[in-house]
Amino acid sequence: MTKLLLATRNEKKLGELRRIVAAEGLSGVEVIGLADVPSFPEAPETAPDFEGNAVAKARDAVAATGLAAIADDSGLAVDALNGMPGVLSARWSGRHGDDEANLDLVLGQLRDVPDDRRGAQFVCAAALVLPSGEETVVRGEWRGTLIRERRGTNGFGYDPIFRPDGEGRTSAEMEPAEKDAASHRGLALRLLLPALRDLG
Ligand code: IMP
Repeated sequence: MTKLLLATRNEKKLGELRRIVAAEGLSGVEVIGLADVPSFPEAPETAPDFEGNAVAKARDAVAATGLAAIADDSGLAVDALNGMPGVLSARWSGRHGDDEANLDLVLGQLRDVPDDRRGAQFVCAAALVLPSGEETVVRGEWRGTLIRERRGTNGFGYDPIFRPDGEGRTSAEMEPAEKDAASHRGLALRLLLPALRDLG
């Protein structure tokens, strides 16, 4: 069994990658998270783009553990904010990981933006780095519209105000498996599958 480290402490991301690996029939690959390896210093995310942060996190994980590693970096790019909050999505309000404050700030910033200019996309870059030094970096995008009030309780972050194109519901009103099948992160992780096949 080859261990594949997903450099995250987020159980939802781990579960999603495990489901994708299982669906692909990669029976020789065991997906583990940061909680399953000895801790190592985790550098802050300072790259100007999602790809740079993802590959830096994956390289650090490989250097510390010697295992093949995947890392991702994601965020919301709002058209009317010229692509922001982007790589700053998790800390837009100034407090890292304060989903409620981040969401309130974006809603306030868009208050006077008319409905036909409220487009946005979730973006996820995912990087696979092998102990040999081989690197694969991919990107998934999910387009939609930002509505004016929260709807739904599934998901996290900006999900309650993001209505994907072609959907009546927000991504917080979708079932987890439905979101995986359509989302930026699901797409990016599936784009890594060809590079994962050699592992097992
Ligand atoms: P990170 O990739 O874990 O650093 O997360 C970046 C931030 O982007 C999260 O804290 C959320 O604010 C936002 N974000 C990324 N993906 C999603 C998603 O699928 N739904 C809602 N918010 C997301």
